[in-house]
Amino acid sequence: MAARIIDGKSIAADVRRALGPRVAALAARGVRPGLAVIRVGDDPASRVYVRNKERACEQTGIASRHIALPARVDEAELLGTIHQLNADAAVHGILVQLPLPHHLDPGRVVEAIAPHKDADGFHPMNTGALLVGRTGFLPCTPAGIMVMLDRSGIELRGKRAVVVGRSNIVGKPMALLLLQRDATVTICHSKTRDLPALTREADVLVAALGRARAISAAMVKPGACVIDVGINRLEDGSLAGDVDTTAVRDVAGWITPVPGGVGPMTVAMLLANCVRAAELAAASASSDPD
Ligand code: NDP
Repeated sequence: MAARIIDGKSIAADVRRALGPRVAALAARGVRPGLAVIRVGDDPASRVYVRNKERACEQTGIASRHIALPARVDEAELLGTIHQLNADAAVHGILVQLPLPHHLDPGRVVEAIAPHKDADGFHPMNTGALLVGRTGFLPCTPAGIMVMLDRSGIELRGKRAVVVGRSNIVGKPMALLLLQRDATVTICHSKTRDLPALTREADVLVAALGRARAISAAMVKPGACVIDVGINRLEDGSLAGDVDTTAVRDVAGWITPVPGGVGPMTVAMLLANCVRAAELAAASASSDPD
């Protein structure tokens, strides 16, 4: 039987709708959530991602500010821009679109963002909070995947979860979130031996390796839930995930499509982080005795 499709687009639309009353409640207090997006250089994919985020902000009632800096901007200037946004009360969330040109250190850049404005959830204060099980801002892609799993009624407790990819923005936080929900988690990477043997054990398989259609049907346990994070541009200009969807659909129990799966959830969770940052700022402003 063909796998059930987890419709990220539709779940993301629900998440975004649910933000409406929260944005309205903030408006009633004179607050409009604000997101500043910094883009460095002219990477075409980054330009598309930033445009999508701006459009999503507009549709949700979030004020978006796009700051485009030249590819050769020096790090001091970029950090200066971030510091200004940190101090700007109209800006509740800040993100720097990755990847950055090679002369800029993404770690230093992300660490310059005030943790309470870290809309992407990449700051070490927030990733550290995730590690110890405290509430911070969650990285948007793994947080969105957890919402997809929950909305689809996928049981995690005691299940075998395998995450392929160990990046700081997807693989590692994904593994931590699954662990928090009592899954038994294996993290795989480029040095992992016999990857198919491990992926075949997975009840929940998250593919975040950035290799088009690398996960074949033979690597999937029958009935598994397969989450495809990958976004790979093929030579003909089309998009492919990290999973060979056509073949895996006949083996898996659940699968996310590309496009229309994890991608829209990432944007929805970014908006949710931004609204939450505005709520926290408004709450702390109203409890401030000055
Ligand atoms: P990275 O390139 O930072 O990380 C890729 C990871 O996959 C690394 O840990 C790497 O291992 C591992 N890997 C690479 N090749 C193999 C292999 N053959 N076997 C096993 N592991 C391998 O990518 P990201 O985590 O940033 O992104 C992953 C994918 O997800 C990309 O396609 C990206 O475009 C997409 N993405 C999609 C998002 C969405 O919203 N849908 C959001 C963010 C990313 P090692 O550490 O050993 O090098």
